[in-house]
Amino acid sequence: MKFVQNKPFYVFCLVCIGLMTGCATEDIRQATMRRQAGTLFEHATVIDGSGANRQLQDVLIVDGVIAQIGDIAAIAGDRRIDAEGLILAPGFIDTHSHHDRGLTEQPHATAAVSQGVTTIIVGQDGTSVMIDELKKSLATVPVAVNVATYAGHGSIRTAVMGTDYKRTATPQEVAAMVALLEKEMASGALGLSTGLEYDPGIYCDTEEVIALAKTTANYGGRYISHIRSEDRAFAQAIEELLLIGRQAKIPVQISHIKLAITDLWGQADRILERLNAARKEGIDVTADIYPYTYWESTLTVLFPDRDFHDLDEAKYVLDKIAPADGLTLTSYQADPSLAGKTVAEIATERKIPEAETLLQLIHDAYKDRPADSDDMSSQESVMGVSMTEPDIATLITWEHTNICSDGGIEGHPRGYGAFPRAICKYVKEMAVVSLEEMIHKMTSLSAGHTGIKNRGMIKPGYASDLVLFDYDRIKDNASIEEHDALASGIVGVWVNGERVWEETGPTGAYPGVFIEKSSIMISAEPSTTRQ
Ligand SMILES: [Zn+2]
Repeated sequence: MKFVQNKPFYVFCLVCIGLMTGCATEDIRQATMRRQAGTLFEHATVIDGSGANRQLQDVLIVDGVIAQIGDIAAIAGDRRIDAEGLILAPGFIDTHSHHDRGLTEQPHATAAVSQGVTTIIVGQDGTSVMIDELKKSLATVPVAVNVATYAGHGSIRTAVMGTDYKRTATPQEVAAMVALLEKEMASGALGLSTGLEYDPGIYCDTEEVIALAKTTANYGGRYISHIRSEDRAFAQAIEELLLIGRQAKIPVQISHIKLAITDLWGQADRILERLNAARKEGIDVTADIYPYTYWESTLTVLFPDRDFHDLDEAKYVLDKIAPADGLTLTSYQADPSLAGKTVAEIATERKIPEAETLLQLIHDAYKDRPADSDDMSSQESVMGVSMTEPDIATLITWEHTNICSDGGIEGHPRGYGAFPRAICKYVKEMAVVSLEEMIHKMTSLSAGHTGIKNRGMIKPGYASDLVLFDYDRIKDNASIEEHDALASGIVGVWVNGERVWEETGPTGAYPGVFIEKSSIMISAEPSTTRQ
């Protein structure tokens, strides 16, 4: 595992010096001929990630860096890639990924790279591994994909409060969380993530998050949140996020934005109006989104008051948020044979009403866990159909929305299909954005939304994370029935200049790096010591 460092760009510099000194074209030609050999993509249709129109060009990469773009003659030693008729784009940056789970067992990261993803951003929903541990793991087991992480509020909260987390934190506890967060930020976290719909985040007050967000802002970090409600209390949850952005003076990103309750359907425009107003006010609010009408989470998340005996609440959930015939268990440890079945099917088998079935499933999943257990891992996971295609299309078109998968190796098909699907559905089929705009939402916009530098564009000096695909053939094939079906049309994927994916499978190269955020403190608290 290498860590990110600046590499010399011999060829690029040589050409630049030539241009600056105003030397003749012949000298530049000779300088170019003296260039280092590298990987040369010939006659590619380049979509550079900026949103600009495609151009037919050659692209040369040397030493893991994009060295040259234009009309480039091959030299001896070049590895030539015939890109005729194919799109060459920056590798996709997945701003909300769970592909780190199981990555050491599957370092080829097929779920991610097979869809064109070259950087996964983990530590989401408030849950993260301590960065020193993550670095150690990546140094021990090199992987095919780049990894960056947020520091998870929930993980920090657990480290401080342990099993006694179902309450607001004391000022001393918040101070202890700040100290832990500072360590993570200094170690290279991109910022702070929260999962305010999950335990233990759901029990915190906004002040706690603001205190931590202020610390994050001091390090130039960002805030990303699985907000407190994606359904019943969505508007309040958005206001809480905006308040955090306003008070902590920090960029705020809404994780996997969605309108996941029938009452909100059709209101995407209104939501975007609110977000645009906040941006006018000076709050740097952005969002990411995955291209599916169904989510994956836990059954318990559907009950914000955590009252798993409330039959009326269960009826409300099935009526407004996720109908029983669209609520499919993806894992269920108490009885693994139930995986793949919907709550409606289980209700029919058990001959009891659907709402009762829902409560019974939650009860059985957690009945063996002692009340004082500090184990917050879920014993079940579920997919639920709660969103509509037109809402997703509207949210995707917002200029501040980038694409994410929220996926992993198991479960929801987004883990293998999100990026190709976004192209198929919203560019090819619905034509709500152009291919250039969509690529922008998968690359440089995503880099901007996470603070990652020198990636996400095809531009000299940028890291050569690249995806080569056939627009006519690109298609997601992953489904609920076959979640790990590989996408078609992804011809090749390069990470830091090394090819990690061929259409037939992984190459066995593990060039992924840990991407650190520079940990320079930008605005320390004013000193109280007398000079
Ligand atoms: Zn989430």
